[in-house]
Formats: sequence, structure tokens, C-alpha cells
Amino acid sequence: MADLVVAGSYNAALTVYSAALPAPGETVIGRRFEQGPGGKGANQAIGARRLGTDVLFVTRVGADAFGEQARSILLAEGLPERGIATDDQNPTGIALILVEDSGQNAISVAPGANASLSGPDVLAGFGPDLRGCKYLLMQLECRAELAVHLSSWARDVGCVSILNPAPARPLPPDALATFDIITPNESELATLAASLGLAAGPPEVLARKLLSYGVRDVVVTLGERGALWACAAGLQYFDAYPVRAIDTTGAGDAFNAGLAAALVRGEPMASAIDYGCRAGAYCVTRNGVIDGLGRPADLELLRY
Ligand code: ADP
Repeated sequence: MADLVVAGSYNAALTVYSAALPAPGETVIGRRFEQGPGGKGANQAIGARRLGTDVLFVTRVGADAFGEQARSILLAEGLPERGIATDDQNPTGIALILVEDSGQNAISVAPGANASLSGPDVLAGFGPDLRGCKYLLMQLECRAELAVHLSSWARDVGCVSILNPAPARPLPPDALATFDIITPNESELATLAASLGLAAGPPEVLARKLLSYGVRDVVVTLGERGALWACAAGLQYFDAYPVRAIDTTGAGDAFNAGLAAALVRGEPMASAIDYGCRAGAYCVTRNGVIDGLGRPADLELLRY
């Protein structure tokens, strides 16, 4: 039985670095190739595990070489094997990433096995784990149905659900109400608000409006401006930790990992959000996402 269940995506991330991105129809000769784990589910599960949380990561990979690699990477991080299912019909999710010298990128994701992860299947396999866990953390890289189905169920058994609504996707109002905590960044917040028919506005206003749809806590991450938290008691702002950012990819994943890790430890919401900011700040001081998922000692070194 784990304290935190993360149900979400694993993608093999295949990255080619080149001087410039190819235009449509063009081929460029790249420089460096890197391969590693990715997917918001995997990033957040690995992040929380590195921060000492007892995590069950529930995911699906294909019966292929990338799936084998996923299994060994996730096991090496200390995540339990039983959460990783093999899908015989679909390949492992793949993210093809092109990065040019300016830092600009282009990404195409084939979800593969991630798209077949369904709420009823997860409940059939891991119902007792969800019943016994404290928090459930999900994202929107798998089907939205997965997150909505699991969070509705989690609420009935007293497990608190956190939705990081990334990548940005519209959600129907009744779906939003099933989550206890949501953690959009500014553009994800704008997408959610638009899908509810709300007029565009500053994050403070939109976050407050989302509360009226039944979400208990809305935590908006604001990049180098920190975060804001809206709940029934009002609004609270959190400063970002001042760091020299070299690669901001994955800051949101690190933030969610930190937030969940602190909540599982029993910290109140305000100090858990601060810990999320700490994890996000550490992440932007490292290249790539996985190297930016810190351990407690790494995060301790960040001071105001
Ligand atoms: P996302 O990666 O989802 O767009 P954000 O960019 O909002 O998410 O970053 C998540 C969190 O990481 C922020 O709330 C902030 O605390 C931290 N963070 C992000 N960028 C920086 C930065 N340049 N300096 C310090 N902290 C940062």
C-alpha cells in the first residue's frame, strides 16, 4: 500500500539537437541525440519518489524495447514493478523532440499504450491501493476519462485527488468538480476557464471563479513569479525562489512532485506549495527534466 498513487503517462523521450529546426519538408543534420524517460506521469512519480515519498506509479508501456527500458528505469528509481502494465496491442508512448540552438523546440507525441490506460482497468487492478492511499496525482496526458473516473472514485473512499491539468485541455464543468486540488500553469488555467465559458482575465480572478465549480484548492503556478493559491479562505501568493534558470522544461512536473510529497508528509497546504516552488526552482537550474528532479538535500540548498 503506497501513500501516493500517480496514474499517468510514460513516454520514451527521443531528442535531437541541431542548429535550426527543420522547416516542413526539410531535413537537417542534427548534432547530438539523447534518449531518456519522459511523460508527465513518469516525471511526477520519479520526482515524488526522489523526495522520499512512498509512490505507486500506475502506467502502461508497450511490449517493445522502449517498454523494457521504461521498466528498468522506473525500477531503478525505486518505483514498484506491479504498477507498470504491458499493453500487447500498442507501442510504448514516444515523444519526438527537436531542439535548436536558440532553445526553441518542436515536439510530437504518439501516446501509444498511454491512451489505453482506462479508469475501470486501473480500479480493477489497484482498487485496494487507491482505497488505502492518501493522495492521488494525475495529469491530462492520458485520456481525461482516466483522471475523472479515478478522482470520482477516490473522493468516495477519502483519498484526496490532485489534477495537474497539463497539457492544456478543455474539461467539462462536472469533470472539474471531481478534483480536490488542481494545479494549472497560467495557460492551462486560461484553457480551463475558456472551456467553462468564462471571460479571459487575470489568474487571481480565474482561480477564484474555478472554486465555484466545486474544486477545493486552485494552485496556479506562475513560473519565475512563483504561485498563487485560491481556496475558500481567500488568496495567498508564494514567491519563487531566486535562482539562475538554465532550462525551464519540467518545472511544473517538479512543482507537482514537491507539492504531493509535502502533502503526503502531512504538511499544510501553504508549506506544501512552498515546497513545490522549491522543487520547481531546483529543476530550472538543471538541464533536462529528469536531472532537475531533486532529492531533499538538493532542495535544502535553495535559500531565500
Ligand atoms: P510549467 O512548467 O508547468 O509551465 P511553471 O513555469 O509555472 O510551470 O513552474 C512551476 C513552478 O516552478 C513555479 O510555480 C515556480 O515556483 C517554479 N519556477 C519556474 N520557473 C522558475 C524560475 N525561473 N525561477 C524560480 N522558480 C521557477
